[in-house]
Amino acid sequence: MPELPEVEIASRQLRHWLLGKRIARARAERTRVIRGQGPQRFAALAGHALSDIERFGKWMLLSFDGGEGLLSHLGMTGKWIRRRPGEDASSHVRATVQLDDGSAIDYRDPRLFGRLVRGKTAALRQLSPLRALGPDPLEEIDVDRLHDLLSRTQRSLKEALMDQRVLAGLGNILVSEALHRARLDPRRRGTSLLREETERLADAIREAIRASLAEEDSPEPITYVEEGGENFFLVYDRAGQPCYTCRTPIQRLVQGGRSTFFCPFCQRTERKGAQRRRKRALA
Ligand SMILES: [Zn+2]
Repeated sequence: MPELPEVEIASRQLRHWLLGKRIARARAERTRVIRGQGPQRFAALAGHALSDIERFGKWMLLSFDGGEGLLSHLGMTGKWIRRRPGEDASSHVRATVQLDDGSAIDYRDPRLFGRLVRGKTAALRQLSPLRALGPDPLEEIDVDRLHDLLSRTQRSLKEALMDQRVLAGLGNILVSEALHRARLDPRRRGTSLLREETERLADAIREAIRASLAEEDSPEPITYVEEGGENFFLVYDRAGQPCYTCRTPIQRLVQGGRSTFFCPFCQRTERKGAQRRRKRALA
């Protein structure tokens, strides 16, 4: 499932394929991907040229001339792919923009959990899914803010970090990977977090994003984690396999209805007494 790194790569590719190019024809199927809008809204992109793409967490906002915009969320299986002139379209294509040179950019989404929302760019910016997003962790993470938010929640660290209002773009994979890198138990409550642990967590989130970006930054097409694909993660989808650090089998548990993967040894919680003593020593 696409998370921040995959969406960042997708936006770089779309920029590369579309920036400054005029759309000759645009077509969308009537599916729940464009729910609430008719296909003619999408078709009205014809004649416009892409001027900018911004990414906010897992959302992409494409801006065209004339103030026209397109908001894209890849859902679970969404992917933008380029089709060269004369090439056949692949299956499950839900929307297509055709360029003057005969090439086309297809939005493919077998499971239809993605979203394409058409409108004026200014209006799309005001939509609640975008407005509710926390800061994007790709550039930098405000540790004070993160610590303030996490240390006031009774939720588990895993669930709190999945909340897009805390940081935008983190999902199941990045959160499992970051908590492992930070040696934090995903079941711990936010309130138990020490300031130095939040610092470790912020570094770990950045490292997990960087590692995914490095893995995925190939010219095209992008590959997400798919069943049976190659797994380059430290803990994600590695239940029962040995931890790369200590050889303890990686465990899987379900939090908030989603899988979490972690090493029960590297990510063990310190005993209460030791934690209290350390908190006192730091105070
Ligand atoms: Zn371990």
